[in-house]
Amino acid sequence: MTAPAATRIQKALQRLGLARPVDLALHVPLRWEDETRLTPLAQVHDGEVVQFEAEVVSCQIQPRPRRQLVAVVADGDVRCTLRFFHFYPSMMGALAVGRRVRLRGEVQGGFGGKTLIHPRVQAAGGPLPTALTPVYPSTAELPQNAIRRAVQAGLKQAEHSGSLRELLPESLVPPHSWPLREALQALHHPGSGQILDREEQTDHPAWRRLKAEELLAQQLSQHQARLQRQTLRAPALRPEPPLPDLGQALLAQLPFALTRAQQRVVKEIASDLAKPQPMHRLLQGDVGSGKTVVAAMAATQAMSAGWQCALMAPTEILAEQHFRNLTQWLEPLLAPLGAEVAWLTGGQKKREREAMLTSIAQGRAWLVVGTHAVIQSQVQFKRLGLAIIDEQHRFGVAQRLSLRQKNQSATGEDAWLEPHLLMMSATPIPRTLAMSHYADLDVSVIDELPPGRTPVLTKLISAQRRDEVIERIRAQVDEGRQVYWVCPLIEESEALDLVNATQTHQALSEALPGVAVGLLHSRLTPAEKKAVMEAFKAASLAVLVSTTVIEVGVDVPNATLMVIEHAERFGLSQLHQLRGRVGRGSLASVCVLMYDPPQGGLSDSAKARLRAMVDTQDGFEIAQRDLHIRGPGELLGERQSGVPMLRFADVERDEDMLAWARATAPGLWRDHPDAAEALMDRWLGAKSDFLHA
Ligand code: ADP
Ligand code: MG
Repeated sequence: MTAPAATRIQKALQRLGLARPVDLALHVPLRWEDETRLTPLAQVHDGEVVQFEAEVVSCQIQPRPRRQLVAVVADGDVRCTLRFFHFYPSMMGALAVGRRVRLRGEVQGGFGGKTLIHPRVQAAGGPLPTALTPVYPSTAELPQNAIRRAVQAGLKQAEHSGSLRELLPESLVPPHSWPLREALQALHHPGSGQILDREEQTDHPAWRRLKAEELLAQQLSQHQARLQRQTLRAPALRPEPPLPDLGQALLAQLPFALTRAQQRVVKEIASDLAKPQPMHRLLQGDVGSGKTVVAAMAATQAMSAGWQCALMAPTEILAEQHFRNLTQWLEPLLAPLGAEVAWLTGGQKKREREAMLTSIAQGRAWLVVGTHAVIQSQVQFKRLGLAIIDEQHRFGVAQRLSLRQKNQSATGEDAWLEPHLLMMSATPIPRTLAMSHYADLDVSVIDELPPGRTPVLTKLISAQRRDEVIERIRAQVDEGRQVYWVCPLIEESEALDLVNATQTHQALSEALPGVAVGLLHSRLTPAEKKAVMEAFKAASLAVLVSTTVIEVGVDVPNATLMVIEHAERFGLSQLHQLRGRVGRGSLASVCVLMYDPPQGGLSDSAKARLRAMVDTQDGFEIAQRDLHIRGPGELLGERQSGVPMLRFADVERDEDMLAWARATAPGLWRDHPDAAEALMDRWLGAKSDFLHA
């Protein structure tokens, strides 16, 4: 092999994450091919992948109907046509008339007799492999031959250097599993016919070993992250007399009592905040479950202890809504103390912004609410004790990190203290995923909705019945109710989105004379959006046409009908969150999922999504189904969660091994730290650095 080719292969391997011998050893085949036999052409059946040898009878380039290389080969009396739509001139030589060749491919029958499209062509007569041929996951730049050779070499090297040795003490070996070395041997070199199919033999002791170690490494790395966090220091947020107990004061003036679930999570959070280690807690609660007031309670704890609190939301509308709620609740308590709630956003006027920045730096703003603007470098807190992130999954790891570092402007000892971190999400993480990918987080769940909510009736209606839907809108508006109409994202194109929403707005305005129809889309300025939202809140708009910018969190209890157009194009959790905009009061509400099947009908996954919406309103059930439909990789991207995806284990199917790994990790870490370290290195290698963000 020439040097440049070798480097090219090295680079391609690197891109697949195959840098070390052990990485190559753990790169197991997708499937195997049987090249150990030649089948006489006469015995070959249509549809089979076969290997046979035959003599070239003719070979020419056919210009029409599509330029192709066509050869005919014969084995005795039986003939077979070979077709190549992409070919090099050199292939004419390999397929010269009279030559015997070895061919491999899938045989197709039909009028023209047996045909092979793009078969593999080799010279006939060479030795046949004695074992099954593995096919490895690869890329276009890395042909099977090259990756096969690299894996073989890597496997040998890893064995010799001892990187595949048993790391686990006997008592902690995963149940029903082979040692790693044997497992990898069996997977890379199955004896003839002994294929360990990933799907069909998923419980084979060889596969089980890979899954168990992979899960264990993941649990260890999160255990490590948790321990590292415990070495960090945070302010213990306890009442600091003479400051008043703002939490009690807030509860006393709320127009409602907290649900039992809210009380429970408030307590869980309060006990974390009182500790001198940074909290790292995820607050989960379905849309409308009342997370905001829980966040407010946490904020009061920080403020009563003499520390500032920051709350960040992913969009201006959401941040604005929080600001309004929190100001309403807290301003009366803060004003007498000379303290205030600050507001930070990208669209702010310079003067207003500067006033806010000063107030934050001087510590007059005890609570800061805003968008991403909160984490910009000019924002300096005097004493940040608690950071709250709403819709945390919409922020990246780096953004979460930068909130944690916001305290560094503080002076003296405080500068070393990290703020506590409370993340909130209405997108529930299914239990198994929480156990695997979020093991380093503490999770609080609000599993109860405030009383007085009426379940939303969900209806599937074909777009052909649009007129009926519009009639229904008219009826609701006549009763003094309000209506959301959500337009879909069109192939991720904002411009088309806009056109579509604008047209819908126009059509609805014409179809509903005398009804005030508003329009909200992503191209409006923050001020324009705000004006539209306020008009809808004040009920001077009866119908709101919107792209998906109506965010989680918008609260208009008088809205009782939601129409989602092209519902088949939305993701399940998105549909669920949109539906959460209605049913916010005691009025009966309806969500109409209007579908308009593309040619060929709705896809299976679209059907499954729509069915799930009709079947249930339970956010956790929805999340579980979403996991089923989309798989974990889609549900939480690696970059976003900061935890690598699992390659072998499936957290649902392999729940027993996940439980085993969870139970095993802490003890292994404590009693066999070298083994734990080596196991993480084996499985996570260079990756483990960015895991702990
Ligand atoms: P989410 O969890 O989706 O962020 P919110 O915090 O926006 O939910 O709360 C939804 C609505 O429920 C708000 O109007 C809020 O004031 C109200 N709410 C919250 N908790 C209660 C409660 N315990 N009783 C009655 N209403 C409540
Ligand atoms: Mg919310």
